[in-house]
Amino acid sequence: MANRKKPVIGILGLTRRTDPGLYVSGEHVFTGSTNVRAIQMNGGVPVLIPAAAVAEDAEAAVSLCDGLLFPGGEDMTPWYYGEEPLPVIGVFRPEIDDAWLKAGRYALEHRIPMLGICKGHQTLNVLMGGSLYQDLSLQEGERIQHLQKLDRTYLTHHVEVEEGTRLAALLGAGKLKTNSMHHQAVKELGKGLKISARACDGTVEGLEDEEGLILGVQWHPEDLVDSAPVMNKLFADLVERAMGKDG
Ligand code: MN
Repeated sequence: MANRKKPVIGILGLTRRTDPGLYVSGEHVFTGSTNVRAIQMNGGVPVLIPAAAVAEDAEAAVSLCDGLLFPGGEDMTPWYYGEEPLPVIGVFRPEIDDAWLKAGRYALEHRIPMLGICKGHQTLNVLMGGSLYQDLSLQEGERIQHLQKLDRTYLTHHVEVEEGTRLAALLGAGKLKTNSMHHQAVKELGKGLKISARACDGTVEGLEDEEGLILGVQWHPEDLVDSAPVMNKLFADLVERAMGKDG
């Protein structure tokens, strides 16, 4: 790794089936192009890591990476935090979640820094033993809108970034505008994590650990690198942490 100039950032892949009749149909492994671009813009080499590759041999797949991006995706399988699916849950894929948690356990053990976005942020909470609201309607009290109707590049709600956190060092403490495309959220916080940002309705919007291995945000910074350039700092930080990993 000593000769490599740019750190490799593994992006955990999703799967989807395409409709028959196109030039190719069947299941595909993918990630959003904005994840790839955000890493490139901030000095990393993005590499897509299929869940199947992690399931087959987590060490072989994840040891390629200096840092890991847990991106947005479908709902988290509720068994992993001790619940059965409720009627309000959306699509979840146990094979994806199993692989992502496996990748996370490998990363923890080998001190590979992680950035979690939306579902990825929720996955990191579950990785540390936390739980989720299967739908925000289950969270007590009144809520603001977290599933915005505007394009992903728009900022639609504020979060309060906690002073003294790593998130505050990157984005500034106090009020911050974010986009919001989620209907699940952190319930009980995982072990060793602290909350770095909340929406005004109490929804957990950011979390991090003490050691600098885990940083999670509930919003989608990868879609804001142009409309809110400060969000680049989240990716630059992952790249920097990944670079520090090998000294
Ligand atoms: Mn939100």
